[in-house]
Amino acid sequence: MYLGNDPMFLLILIAFGLSMWASFRVRGTFNRYAEVPAQSGMTGYDAARRMLDNNGLYDVQIEPIPGVLSDHYDPTKKVVRLSEAVYHERSISAISVACHEVGHAVQHKVHYPMLVLRHRMFPIVNFASGIAPFLLIVGIILSFSNLILLGIIFFSAAVAFQLVTLPVEFNATNRAKQQMVTYGFVSPQERQGVNKVLNAAALTYVAAALVSLLQLLRFVGIFNQRND
Ligand SMILES: [Zn+2]
Repeated sequence: MYLGNDPMFLLILIAFGLSMWASFRVRGTFNRYAEVPAQSGMTGYDAARRMLDNNGLYDVQIEPIPGVLSDHYDPTKKVVRLSEAVYHERSISAISVACHEVGHAVQHKVHYPMLVLRHRMFPIVNFASGIAPFLLIVGIILSFSNLILLGIIFFSAAVAFQLVTLPVEFNATNRAKQQMVTYGFVSPQERQGVNKVLNAAALTYVAAALVSLLQLLRFVGIFNQRND
């Protein structure tokens, strides 16, 4: 491996390192503030239920699910699924993550444009991101430019999806931060903890998108070299 001749590969390695560090850090930050109870005494479930009701989302259910940081909102079933630690615990981490997921439910209700776009892209991206690595690997091994180009087009769809995910995540976090303070789930002094937990989670999405974007640029570089 001659890294000196391939600065893009080196950049991808750095971004990949950043991505690993971000996912390591999100667990650390979550665990740290899982030890800090919120003054309101609310569990993740309590906070999620209150925020849903305050936004008129009485029909959205909340269910516990196994796993760590497996929390998500399911728009097809209209269910907020919270990991056990978030659902039951009375901590800054638990209510922050719970309210972030409710943020997605609110986005769904108000047809937040980036979320609508993300849902429309999903079926295409699901197919494209599955087939792209195969096309790229076979195209590069066989030096078949058209196959590489097709792989790049499919891979671009996956990268676009990750980029659209960023404003969706930031927006859900902003809704959570704002409503948690407004409704008194956290005191103004507890805001810093909320910010740390939710910003650490947001960074994992940024790092993952950066890795994909750099990989895409590298494949474009390989395609251009083969066509020279
Ligand atoms: Zn989210």
